[in-house]
Amino acid sequence: MRDLYETLGVSKDATQDQIKKAYRRLAREHHPDSSGVDGDEERFKEVSQAYEVLSTPDKRALYDRGFDPNSRRGAAGFGFEDIFETFFGGGATGRRGPASRQQRGGDILIHADVILEEAVFGIARDVQVNVADVCATCEGSCCAAGTAPTSCRECGGKGAVQRVVRSLLGQVMTSAPCPSCGGYGTTIEIPCPECSGHGRTHSSHTITVDIPAGVESGTRIRLQGYGDAGVAGGPMGDLYVEIREKPHQVFERRGDDLHCSLEIPMTAAALGTVMKIETVDGRQEVDVRPGTQSGETIRLKGLGIGHLQRAGRGDLYVHIDVQTPTALTLGQEALIKQFAALRGEELLEARLSPANSGLLSRLRDAFTGR
Ligand code: ZN
Repeated sequence: MRDLYETLGVSKDATQDQIKKAYRRLAREHHPDSSGVDGDEERFKEVSQAYEVLSTPDKRALYDRGFDPNSRRGAAGFGFEDIFETFFGGGATGRRGPASRQQRGGDILIHADVILEEAVFGIARDVQVNVADVCATCEGSCCAAGTAPTSCRECGGKGAVQRVVRSLLGQVMTSAPCPSCGGYGTTIEIPCPECSGHGRTHSSHTITVDIPAGVESGTRIRLQGYGDAGVAGGPMGDLYVEIREKPHQVFERRGDDLHCSLEIPMTAAALGTVMKIETVDGRQEVDVRPGTQSGETIRLKGLGIGHLQRAGRGDLYVHIDVQTPTALTLGQEALIKQFAALRGEELLEARLSPANSGLLSRLRDAFTGR
């Protein structure tokens, strides 16, 4: 393919208007159906293709950066007929034409600390992230204002240099990336001063991350396209926010359920009472039935952690911890002795509970969250 600007007979910095005029003139001249003048179908096709690219700002920008927007390969196909294609039957060298400068932007991983209340309900959190942006000065072209990548003189824009090597098969042509342009087929003569020709600059952004209910340590939230900008117009990378959950002083998390321990005096356990506890949902009543045993659990339905990506919440389990009175006064001791006598508990015979009942069983249930 010839240089598109040359094809239209305009300069590299031609305005859209100049390009349009040049095209109209050449199209009239070479149109196969044009009356009077000799039509030239081949030339007309060339002119039309050149105009198609240069009149579309996106395509023109790509072309200026060394890409051929009409090529399906995405890389510049400056009429480079790969010699190896005929030599080896195509694709034998593994690469055809210059390499693309385009690269996907990198992914970024940052951490966000959440406290229990935030994991329970979810929260919108502002995070600082340092990302590569498309350079505002050169818009990612890497070139100083008014300049464009030029076809590499060393390889003639092919991106590869060929050498003849002697081998057992005789003389063989081998291809290597052009050392002058690094295989891109174009060189940037005057790099953009703002980004030193990298096409990207770094800056800090504040991004609001919607942290859903139910996250836990290790949960990663992906924000597509919030990572580094791509190189030379390549796609954006992604931002990953990894959750670090801070342990709570009172509530312990097991899956989406919460567990806490509630101390009650022996007398309250025997007589029954209503205790008020502070939860993430505010003050809640715990109904301690008469005769409650140490290690029993009371379930407060729906006061656990919100399920991740589905409706509903886990439960809150209150583990009862019956306190045996200590440091008895003489009066208290006398009362308890009297109580024991009334219960017939003065002289006890050892009585072991079956393994599937009693405290052991309750501890096991507590551990599996039942
Ligand atoms: Zn720049």
